[in-house]
Amino acid sequence: MPKKRCPACGSNHTLKIIYGEPTYEAFEAAEGGELVLGGCCVTSNDPTHFCKTCDQQFGVTDSMLQYDMGATLTHPTGTNC
Ligand SMILES: [Zn+2]
Repeated sequence: MPKKRCPACGSNHTLKIIYGEPTYEAFEAAEGGELVLGGCCVTSNDPTHFCKTCDQQFGVTDSMLQYDMGATLTHPTGTNC
């Protein structure tokens, strides 16, 4: 999986943010610093990546692609957590 470059500082020390209830694998990856869990609330303009260098979140959700990372949505868009 190619790393996204941070638009703020140019670092490529970025992590993907996943939303929804994490699977065990996703949770392990987050514990290992390989991704960030974004929580169960999903909107149409959530950031998709997090920069470890400058602590900025960036990127905008433009598809359901990120859910292929292994997150299971328990609260579909538009519901309250
Ligand atoms: Zn950055």
